[in-house]
Amino acid sequence: MRLKRISIPQSDDRRKSAAPHVLWAMPLLVLSGTGDSLARAGSETADTHEFTAPAPARTVRWLALSIVDDGSGRSLAARFHLEVNGAEHVPDAIGPRGLRLAVRHHKKGQRSTALYTRGEGSVIVPLPDRAREGTITVSRGYEYLATRAPFVVDGPETRLTLRLRRWLDLPARGWYGADAHLHFDRLDPATDSDWLTATEADGLSHGHFLTLKGGNLPGLWARQYAHGPAGQAGTAVTGWIRPGTEYRDRLQGHISLLGPTERIDPVSTGGLGDPPVAENFPPLHDVMVRSRSLGGLTGIAHGNALGRQPTGLLDAVLGAVDFVEIANTHRLELEAWYLLLNCGIVLPPAGGTDLPNNPFRDSWQPLLGETRMYVKSAEPPDFAMWKQAVLSGAVVVSSGPWLELDVAGVGPGGTVTLPPGGGDVRVTALLESPRPPQAVEVVHDGRVVKGRTEQRRVGGVHRWRVSRRIRVAHSGWIAARATGARKAALAEHTGIRQRAAAHTAVVRVLVGDEPIRSPAAVRQLRTEIRRLREIYRRKGTYRNTDDRDHTLALFDRAIVSLQTDNER
Ligand SMILES: [Zn+2]
Repeated sequence: MRLKRISIPQSDDRRKSAAPHVLWAMPLLVLSGTGDSLARAGSETADTHEFTAPAPARTVRWLALSIVDDGSGRSLAARFHLEVNGAEHVPDAIGPRGLRLAVRHHKKGQRSTALYTRGEGSVIVPLPDRAREGTITVSRGYEYLATRAPFVVDGPETRLTLRLRRWLDLPARGWYGADAHLHFDRLDPATDSDWLTATEADGLSHGHFLTLKGGNLPGLWARQYAHGPAGQAGTAVTGWIRPGTEYRDRLQGHISLLGPTERIDPVSTGGLGDPPVAENFPPLHDVMVRSRSLGGLTGIAHGNALGRQPTGLLDAVLGAVDFVEIANTHRLELEAWYLLLNCGIVLPPAGGTDLPNNPFRDSWQPLLGETRMYVKSAEPPDFAMWKQAVLSGAVVVSSGPWLELDVAGVGPGGTVTLPPGGGDVRVTALLESPRPPQAVEVVHDGRVVKGRTEQRRVGGVHRWRVSRRIRVAHSGWIAARATGARKAALAEHTGIRQRAAAHTAVVRVLVGDEPIRSPAAVRQLRTEIRRLREIYRRKGTYRNTDDRDHTLALFDRAIVSLQTDNER
């Protein structure tokens, strides 16, 4: 069965939010002394977001909110969402033991606000003067059960303590979550502790903050106060955030440069951004090679689906690509990744949200890391170890469900070797999710392996298992993937329909010394690269013939490498 492509056309990126965000239509709360508090250190207003200054004093009515870990009793950093008298309530500010993060995307007119506790004890949360009753939903990433509780307002202070239960401890098993695609300004190191609190409260260990030029804002945005180690905050043990660049060209597409020691200018080419660089030069291939030489981990963004004639396949054939980002909050793109895998170009998947793009969340969903990548590491990784872990291929991308894969005792990123002629392998995929799943599947060389799914529910968590014996005659790959709950708030505000999803990196299954190489896939890839060469020859904008010749020579090198021996 051919894989159904699940993608959002690029034109959706330009669609305005269907309705003004309901949060901003709520009656505003009057706080005394707000003017003073806005000048306080610790608050920040940037192009992409605002960390709101803490509320200076108790108001007429307030919640005194404590969120604790059910196991340890320890105060927890977590996200919360309030309804009061039946309507969503977002206070203008909350107490200093909490964090209010408002994010915005200018061009799309998208805004959303997340409320967090910092894990430092009880947080004061102002309520509307006429508050009678309400409901609170608390979440912390995907490894705690989201909790929803009603409360009654009787008098000025309502004390609430909520216990969150962890159902899965991925770091204890060596898996660390990262959002590899964030676009927020980091202008002042003083704000890093707020970012680290928000990532922790959303259950993430790592975040990559990527500078851009153009699109949302004309010049550079999501600016970072420094690149490389000087711009990194946090530690291996507590988690860290690190700057990078999303380098884009209107024709060539988008690439993610995670963690290089410098920003790689001009950040945008092909007429994108201001001041514009008209040429489709340098080729993204050269940018990727430079990013690697500066210590960066370098990949194709958005599954090679953005840009008018994206060159990600070319760059991967030339060996310049470290990963393929297959998912953002608003898209899941498997086609280019599967094609490369079938040609024996085995790359790990990656994922991230693309915030502040499409910041609309259901109350159980994290804001940061709604789409994330889990990477396996023997100990809490620093950036260098994290990079090695991704390169090793031990990666699971998810926007909710946790997914395990076992192929003859080997997990994602590993290799199973069969004797010449091939043989059978036992494959098991296990999905775990507190939200009802839709499907869990085993994929072999891009095709779903049909069969039965064993479905159970234990302690509020769905456990769906697929176990198959698969006959492998030729070298190839096996992965697991899953789909889950609909993203209701995303659909409501943007019209984009996506489900929570998960996909493991692949296990290579090699037969004798035969390489992974589907002749049909190689033909398809070669045809596509020839087609692209012709487009760049005719329509690429270059300053001179040397630049054009240099670019076309890359295509020629890739086409030669994809020819079979008797074609050479
Ligand atoms: Zn992009």
